[in-house]
Amino acid sequence: MRILVVSDVHSNLVALEAVVADAGTVDGVWQLGDVVGYGPDPNGVVRRLRDLGAVGVRGNHDAAALGGGEIEWFNPDARRAMEWTRGVLADDAREWLDALPERLAVDTAELVHGSPRQPLWEYILSAPIARENLDRLAGAIGLHGHTHVPLAWLDADGQVELLEAADGTRGSLAGRRALVNPGSVGQPRDGDRRASYLILDPAAGTISWHRVAYDVDAVQRAMRRLPLPPSLSSRLALGL
Ligand code: ZN
Repeated sequence: MRILVVSDVHSNLVALEAVVADAGTVDGVWQLGDVVGYGPDPNGVVRRLRDLGAVGVRGNHDAAALGGGEIEWFNPDARRAMEWTRGVLADDAREWLDALPERLAVDTAELVHGSPRQPLWEYILSAPIARENLDRLAGAIGLHGHTHVPLAWLDADGQVELLEAADGTRGSLAGRRALVNPGSVGQPRDGDRRASYLILDPAAGTISWHRVAYDVDAVQRAMRRLPLPPSLSSRLALGL
């Protein structure tokens, strides 16, 4: 079984299409939130994920796009992009986003955007935070995004083992609890501008990360034609 796991697509349809093509035939698509925000094509990304039959959860940007108070916590550039997103979001896209839960259990996996204990907001950035969240996992595998950095936190006899992921990194969960981050499709922040995604076999407990180049220039051009902050388009070229 091959599940395509994506997170933080952030209205970047060109990057999402590159991921879908690169992943090839899959048995399902799971998404971990921040479908919209930052990028130029919120409606296109929602419709593509809907057409792929993706299941998943909402992120803090999705909640903000629906009118939530989350926008108050955004930095000025993120806020400007979100105000634009709110203005262009179509009714069908809004409806799809609004149906996304904060947590979703699928198979042995628990899907969240930030962390199992704080699905919308918490960044899992350290071993102590990972430890506390590993202990809160309902299933064996916790899938999360939010940091835009691909990695996994693995339970190692009460300790935490960090697996940093690059293109082609593989891991075996072997029945251990794990928090796994596919990285970001639409705005990677680990210095690699290529879109990041994960292939998961839930039954076998195997994971692999993949990177795929997409037409960053085209996305930047589209963003510059819209009232989106220049910093958000220039960072795409750096993967930061
Ligand atoms: Zn995000």
